[in-house]
Amino acid sequence: MQETPAVLISEVGPRDGLQSVKATMPTAHKLRWLDALHAAGLREIEVASFVPAKRLPQMADAAQVVRHALGLPGLTVMALVPNLQGAQAALDAGVHKLTIPVSASAAHSLANVRKTREDMVAEVRRIVALRDERAPGVIVEVGISTAFGCTLQGAVAPDDVVRLAAQVVAAGVDEAGLSDTTGMANPAQVRRLFTRVRAEIGERTGAAHLHNTRGLGLANCLAAWDVGVRTFDSSLGGLGGCPHAPGASGNVVTEDLVFMFEAMGLRTGVDLPRLMAARDALRAGLPDEPLYGMTPEAGLPKGFTQQEALHG
Ligand code: ZN
Repeated sequence: MQETPAVLISEVGPRDGLQSVKATMPTAHKLRWLDALHAAGLREIEVASFVPAKRLPQMADAAQVVRHALGLPGLTVMALVPNLQGAQAALDAGVHKLTIPVSASAAHSLANVRKTREDMVAEVRRIVALRDERAPGVIVEVGISTAFGCTLQGAVAPDDVVRLAAQVVAAGVDEAGLSDTTGMANPAQVRRLFTRVRAEIGERTGAAHLHNTRGLGLANCLAAWDVGVRTFDSSLGGLGGCPHAPGASGNVVTEDLVFMFEAMGLRTGVDLPRLMAARDALRAGLPDEPLYGMTPEAGLPKGFTQQEALHG
């Protein structure tokens, strides 16, 4: 009998990763990479972003990638949608879950989606209405970006983050998570802000999307775990996440995150040797991108075993 994992690792490399790099991964390579991630036991993957191809040519094959991912058993197929048009396309493609970025920083919101925060909440409401009408089984998540600080405006008021979380839940979303888009969070801040958001929206609190820009990624994940977060976004090889510091990875590295939780005895359902093997599929599709991760560098400790990883 398969136990439910204690932690859900939501792999964002095929979306967050690929949209942050200049090179475009050929579709056939994307599909093989998805197969490898799925074979490692990942059961939620953000596979694409539904944005106009002229803005992000890396995502021009989003519908095709979704179609392939839908054939992988037990996988929750997620896509990022910045607006109603994207949501329409993602629902047409048949995704199981939509994630909508809503910036807590007023400046980042205008720069990223050319909308005010209030306009974005209204857009979220329209996307939920579309979901209700066309695909009521689809989960809608909001990721509150720049929740821990913003390179454009500096500090972001925690009150703004908590209010936005309440507003998007009132707009009908199933989950609202917090994203450290620019890699500015620290563990004390992560603990405080997730605690406040949970007090406000309870079980609708969604994923922690944390970055490793300054080396605090895992510490921040653990802080979020301590205050009840059970879903974590991360990226194989730390791909993407707009790293600002030279030599620093952006997104939290999936391999290191899985190793941390598994070493603590918290089941992720992910098989570490197979996860590390999935790096070959990523490297084949993006030969010039640096891949990060301390666990793949060091290898697993001698005698390290995972208790019955969940195989597909
Ligand atoms: Zn990210």
